[in-house]
Amino acid sequence: MKININQLPDNPYLLLTPGPLSTSKKVKAAMLRDWCTWDQDYNQLVQSIRSRLVTMASSKPEDYTTVLMQGSGTFSVESVIGSVIPRNGKLLVLTNGAYGKRIAEMAEILGIYSIVLDSGETKPVNTKQLEEVLKVDSSITHVAVVHVETTTGMMNPVADVTRIAKAYGKTVIVDAMSSFGGIPIDMAALDIDYLISSANKCIQGVPGFGFIIARKEALATCKGIARSLSLDLYDQWETMELGNGKWRYTSPTHTVRAFDQALQELEEEGGIASRYERFKTNQQTLVAGMERMGLKTLLPVELQSPIITSFLYPDSPVFSFDEFYSRMKQEGFVIYPGKITAASTFRIGNIGDVHLADMERLLAGMEKQLFWKTN
Ligand SMILES: *Cc1c(COP(=O)(O)O)cnc(C)c1O
Repeated sequence: MKININQLPDNPYLLLTPGPLSTSKKVKAAMLRDWCTWDQDYNQLVQSIRSRLVTMASSKPEDYTTVLMQGSGTFSVESVIGSVIPRNGKLLVLTNGAYGKRIAEMAEILGIYSIVLDSGETKPVNTKQLEEVLKVDSSITHVAVVHVETTTGMMNPVADVTRIAKAYGKTVIVDAMSSFGGIPIDMAALDIDYLISSANKCIQGVPGFGFIIARKEALATCKGIARSLSLDLYDQWETMELGNGKWRYTSPTHTVRAFDQALQELEEEGGIASRYERFKTNQQTLVAGMERMGLKTLLPVELQSPIITSFLYPDSPVFSFDEFYSRMKQEGFVIYPGKITAASTFRIGNIGDVHLADMERLLAGMEKQLFWKTN
């Protein structure tokens, strides 16, 4: 099938959001075909995606496996939380934003014993406290942490968390939703058991499914213990494994095809290491330009991820986010509201099919819209 991608419409604006995000025309064009879910062609595509993801996530791919799961990223997180902790298990959740809290909320709804260690929205998760608790509470079996807390853009010390958790023999779950594919991470070197991400973040696909990369040995202990039918991680894995790329229940075929194209584009870009460099350049250019205009970041540079940045509202009575948002949209950019209680912030993401030239265009456009300064 040949599609002239120049015939596809341009997006009226660039999404500077943490997903769904701006995708390439080729990714969008990849969806213009129907696929049969039990046909070999489609199942081979699924198997190829699964094995490419394992290779990207681990320097020991033979020890890991991928499960694809329908739904948004949260469904994949809930699939792990609900499927890997036995009835007599106990989960410790490290939180410093909305996505960590969401994991704690899942545990509560699912009736899983859990402890939450919250460090507040502007501090990294507390590894000292983690160690103190693990020392005294031997009933804890699992530790969960968010890699990049998208609420603020904070980069959490996942390597330290895993090192401590592993010293006490715990199973480690990492929500790497907004970072996987954009920041290098080696599950084998860090000894992570479960890593979760989704199609529409740093891999630059479209929304519709998430994926879990699991250590085979850990996943093997999870048969028959899920608290949900449709989100049963082990069962989904077993069906994909035995059926050679079959999903339980209808799979998001168009999204999966777009994801395959997105993975190919990630490989063409030079892999995760190159994409990480692009995102860092985007983010640093953004912050330098914003600071020149008098806008300050919420987090200090050493805690900041190259994915999304929180900016404090300018100190002016005439600033309104809604007005700023609509002016920026007219300039061709969609920015993102803030999500924290500690300060008034807005966010700008720089992942997706977004490049240095886009950041420069954004800054030039913004320069014309500093309405709070002219009064
Ligand atoms: C985006 C995201 C999720 C999942 O969000 P969905 O809206 O369900 O796709 C989970 N955790 C983090 C850190 C995220 O950035």
